[in-house]
Amino acid sequence: NTICVDDYTVVGLIGSGSFGKVYKIIRKSDGKVLVWKEIHYGSMTDKEKQLLVGEVNIIKDLRHAFIVRYYDRIIDRENKKIYIIMEYCPCGDLSNFVKKLKKDKKSLDEEQVWRIFCQLAMALKECHVRKEGSPKIIHRDIKPGNIMLDDNHDVKLGDFGLARMLGEDSHYAKTNVGTPYYMSPEQINEKAYDEKSDIWSLGCVIYELCMLSPPFEAMNHLSLAQKINKGQYPAVSSKYTRVLSDLIRSMLTVDSSRRPSVDEICVSANIVHRIKDTQ
Ligand code: ADP
Ligand code: MG
Repeated sequence: NTICVDDYTVVGLIGSGSFGKVYKIIRKSDGKVLVWKEIHYGSMTDKEKQLLVGEVNIIKDLRHAFIVRYYDRIIDRENKKIYIIMEYCPCGDLSNFVKKLKKDKKSLDEEQVWRIFCQLAMALKECHVRKEGSPKIIHRDIKPGNIMLDDNHDVKLGDFGLARMLGEDSHYAKTNVGTPYYMSPEQINEKAYDEKSDIWSLGCVIYELCMLSPPFEAMNHLSLAQKINKGQYPAVSSKYTRVLSDLIRSMLTVDSSRRPSVDEICVSANIVHRIKDTQ
C-alpha cells in the first residue's frame, strides 16, 4: 500500500521555483488539499540525489505550528521525478506580502513585525535546538519567498535545506539562483557556515518587514558581496523602537561567532511575554 501519484488529483500549478514546480493537489482518499513540489532528478549528480533524499528524511520529522508540514514523498523512477507532498499555504509567501504593502504604500506597525518575528524565531528554535541525539537542522535559505502565510496570517517556514544542494558545479547552482540578498557573509564568501547563517538571514527578513526592502541591495553579485561583508545598511526607520532595531543589528553582525543564537534572540525579544500578548 505505498502511495503513488495516482492517489492525488492535480488541481493546478502554483508556481515554479529553483528546484521544480509546486502544484496544488487533492488527496483522493479524503479530499484534503495539499501541495506537491515536483523535482526532476534526472539531471542531478548522484551526490545531489543523495542530499535531496537525506533532506527529505530530515524535514519529514519536523512538526511545528510555524513550519510547513511535510507529509510524504513519492519517487517516480520511470520519469525520474520526486514529489514532495506538503501542507498547502493558501495566502502566499512573505515576498508577495511585502510587495503588496509596498505597492499599496502601507507598512507594518511594530506589533505586526514582532508577531512575525516571534513566530519565525520559534520555528528556528525548533530547528536549531534539538533534543539530545537529534542533529541540528540548518535551513540555509531563509528568505521572504520561503516563508509562507496561512489563513490566520501565521507564518510557516518552508523549503528546508534543499538549498544545501547548491554546491559548486551543480547544474542547479548555475541555472536557478536568484540574487542572494539574504546570504550571510560566510555563505557569500563560500566559507564554512553553521546555524548562525540562518540568524543573519532572519535579520534580513525582519529588516525587510520594517523597511520593505532588504538591508543589502546591489546591481551585481560582487557589489552585493562587498556590502554584506561590511555589514552596512540603511538605518531602520525611527518609526520602530530601539529594541527592535538593536535586535536587527545584532542579527546582522558580520562576525558569526558574535551573532546571537536563536535562544539569545528569544530572550532579547522577550518571546514568552509577547506570544501571550499577541494571542
Ligand atoms: P523558490 O525556489 O522561489 O523558493 P518554490 O519552489 O519554493 O520557489 O515555490 C514556488 C512557488 O510555490 C512560490 O510562489 C511559493 O510561494 C509557492 N509555494 C511553495 N510552497 C507552497 C506551499 N506549501 N503552499 C502554497 N504555495 C507554496
Ligand atoms: Mg522556495
